[in-house]
Amino acid sequence: VSDLAGRQVTVAGLGVSGVPAARALRGLGASVTVVNGSDGEPQRAQAAELEPLGITVRLGDGETLPEGTELIVTTPGWKPTSPLFLAAAEAGVPVWGDVELAWRLRGKDAPPWLAVTGTNGKTTTVRMLAAILEAAGLRTAAVGNIGVSLLDIVLGDTPYDVLAVELSSYQLHWAPSLRAHSGAVLNLAPDHLDWHGSMAAYAADKGRIYEGNQVACVYNVADPATEDLVRAADVEEGCRAIGFTLGTPGPSQLGVVEGILVDRAFVADRQRQAQELAEVSDVNPPAPHNIANALAAAALARAYGVPPTAVRDGLRAFRPDPHRVEHVADVDGVAYVDDSKATNTHAAEASLGAYEHIVWIAGGLAKGATFDELVLTAAKRLRGVVLIGADRALIREALARHAADVPVVDLDRTDTGAMAAAVRESARLARPGDTVLMAPACASMDMFTNYNERGDAFAAAVHDLASGRVPDD
Ligand code: ADP
Repeated sequence: VSDLAGRQVTVAGLGVSGVPAARALRGLGASVTVVNGSDGEPQRAQAAELEPLGITVRLGDGETLPEGTELIVTTPGWKPTSPLFLAAAEAGVPVWGDVELAWRLRGKDAPPWLAVTGTNGKTTTVRMLAAILEAAGLRTAAVGNIGVSLLDIVLGDTPYDVLAVELSSYQLHWAPSLRAHSGAVLNLAPDHLDWHGSMAAYAADKGRIYEGNQVACVYNVADPATEDLVRAADVEEGCRAIGFTLGTPGPSQLGVVEGILVDRAFVADRQRQAQELAEVSDVNPPAPHNIANALAAAALARAYGVPPTAVRDGLRAFRPDPHRVEHVADVDGVAYVDDSKATNTHAAEASLGAYEHIVWIAGGLAKGATFDELVLTAAKRLRGVVLIGADRALIREALARHAADVPVVDLDRTDTGAMAAAVRESARLARPGDTVLMAPACASMDMFTNYNERGDAFAAAVHDLASGRVPDD
């Protein structure tokens, strides 16, 4: 810690991670410059907050490396190919993310980290894990990418026994010395490829979560790419590889497959006698993808040594965050479900797979995704589709190719009121026993501020429908 005193550190970016990083570094006696490309009102306000602490803030130039920089601490938005980092590489200046900084600043008796990454399910799994650890009487918190700065936790006064840490691929990219107690990659599907440059680079960054694991590497048996990452990782001798699966030991039972990693090879790949930890009905909601999340959380918690009863009690106590396959209401025998957090096709595929007869509300910003595979898998379950948002034509065309019989209502709208219209159209298409599922497979920013607002608009429209009110739109 003390070796940052007097060092010249450049923080790349302001915002929710840059501002706390700058404060923390200044608090440790570093000489801090924050650089930020944009120079608007919000940036000036943040600068005004930092400057009285003796922090230099340079707005309007995020590309030039400040003279004398010995270390860069970066926020997640900055791509690895940013000119600032190229200049740093040339000058031999290391780049750390906020997670790397937190890892290095943690004290001698710091709590171990149980770390979770993956394309989808991170937040849910980390919250389940924290609930299980709490049920075991441990002092813990769900932290990291979930919205709780690891830096604040590491430098704060609250004592913890163990931390449940959500890590994004960005954070892992810039956390070279992180060594978790145990780590899990839940799944891998194309996402954020513009940042990482390629699927291989994205996967490799996710795989960093296994580097140096001491006790267990948890992977998804149904997603062999996650197992490949375990095999490629350099772990502590004797570290266990634990695969979770919905398919083993029997089709209706849940299980884990366990092996020991020695010298990068599984030496004792065996199926453990399954010990009953919990029942499917203990998982909320009991959709297959969510049971997979529960198994990953259970595997990490067991690796840390919590008793089986805590797994069950923790899962029962767990409540999902809003907008993640959230049941809003039943109206005229039709269930209305908000999965606004399904901002990519992999997430939407999971929730579409959880219902039999679906009226699907989809569309938004596609972020370069294609929809053929998703539509092919879901086609048989679709009662109808209602499309909204900027990139809805991509979904409409995939439906025409693979599900020509399914009725499609293209609302041709990107205004906020379109959600209420979509709910009313869905109600017309649905039959009793069906589910109207808003799982857009797209980002929300074409119509809404974020996925929360999109989910709230859906819920409001469903409540209007239930009360027979038709809002103006
Ligand atoms: P993250 O933190 O990785 O974004 P969340 O738990 O917030 O994950 O869930 C994001 C979206 O992914 C939600 O729409 C949710 O329904 C879906 N989802 C959750 N777990 C999984 C999973 N294991 N596989 C696929 N999709 C999932």
